Amino acid sequence: DRPIAELFATRRPVRSLEFYPPKDAAGVEALRATAHALRRMLPDFVSVTYGAGGSTQERTAQVSSILRKDCGFTVMPHLTCVGHSQLELAALADGFHDHGFRNIMALRGDPPKGSAQFTPQPDGLRYAADLVTLLKSRHTDFCLGVAGYPEKHPEAASLDVDLTNLKRKVDAGADFITTQLFFDNTVYYRFVEKCRAVGITVPIVPGIMPVLSLHQIQRFTAMCGATLPKQLITRLEVAAENTDVVETIGIDWALTQIRGLLANGAPGYHLYVLNRAKAALALTAGLAA
Ligand code: FAD
Repeated sequence: DRPIAELFATRRPVRSLEFYPPKDAAGVEALRATAHALRRMLPDFVSVTYGAGGSTQERTAQVSSILRKDCGFTVMPHLTCVGHSQLELAALADGFHDHGFRNIMALRGDPPKGSAQFTPQPDGLRYAADLVTLLKSRHTDFCLGVAGYPEKHPEAASLDVDLTNLKRKVDAGADFITTQLFFDNTVYYRFVEKCRAVGITVPIVPGIMPVLSLHQIQRFTAMCGATLPKQLITRLEVAAENTDVVETIGIDWALTQIRGLLANGAPGYHLYVLNRAKAALALTAGLAA
C-alpha cells in the first residue's frame, strides 16, 4: 500500500472510512456487502479497528485483507497495546508488514470490558507514543496515524497536558492525527490552533460520526467525553423512535459539519460509519451536489 502521508501531501479532501471487525462469519459477510456498496464512494483509504468495544483482535488482520482483496481499498489496520507484550507487538507489526500493509493506526487502546483502568501487560507498552517508537524501529517505511482528542482524552488532567502527550506521539514519528468524534466544529478549529501553537505540524483529520440513534450517541459521547450540542439533542428527541427521521437528522448534521470543515481548511474527513453504507453514501451524494 501507498503511505497515506503521500495522499495528504497531494490530494484534498482525503476521505476515509472506519470499520470494525464483526464478531462472527455472518457479520463478515455483511461487512463485505457494505464495503462493496461503499466502493462507489471511492474512499482514499479505510481503517479497521483493533479490539475496540470488545471485538476480537484476531479479526482485524482478516477483515483488513478482505477489504483490500475484495474492494481494492488501501487499508490501515489499527493496533493497540492492550494485552500484548512488546515481543508480541513486534511480531504483529512484522505480520502486517509482511502482508503489505504500510499504514498503521497506533493506539494505546481502551481497557478490556470489565476493567476501568488501562494496565500494561508485563513487558508491554503503556502509551501510544511507545507503540509509535516500536513500530518505526521495526519498519521505517510504516506510515503511522495516531488519535487526537479535541475535547481532551477522558483520563487527561487538562487539554494542555493531553496536547503535550499528543506532541510526544508526533515527535516519536506519527505522520498524521485522526480526531475523536465531535459535533461542534469550533471545538476542532480551537484544537488545531492549539496543536499548531505547540509545534504539531502533521495533518489533523476530523473524525465525524453520522448519528444513527440518540441512545447510541449518548452512550458513545459518555464514553469518549465529546459534547452533544443541545440543538442536535432537541432535534433527535423530536424525531424520537422514528429511525428514518433520526438518520436524516444525523446525515444533515454531519453534512453541515463536513462542508464547514473543508471550507475552513481541514485536510479531509474520516467517517465512523459503524459498518453501514447508507449515511456515508448519502454524505458523498450531498457533498457532490
Ligand atoms: P495515548 O496517546 O497513550 O493516551 C492515553 C492517555 O495517556 C491520555 O490521557 C494521555 O494524555 C496520557 N498520556 C500519554 N502519554 C503520556 C505520558 N508520557 N505521561 C503521562 N500521561 C500520558 N481503541 C481501541 O481499543 N481500538 C481501536 O481500534 C481504536 N481506534 C481509535 C481510533 C481513533 C481515531 C480514536 C480517536 C480512538 C480510537 N480508540 C481505539 C480509542 C483509544 O484506544 C482510547 O481513546 C484510549 O483510551 C487512548 O488511546 P491513545 O492511543 O489515544 O492513548
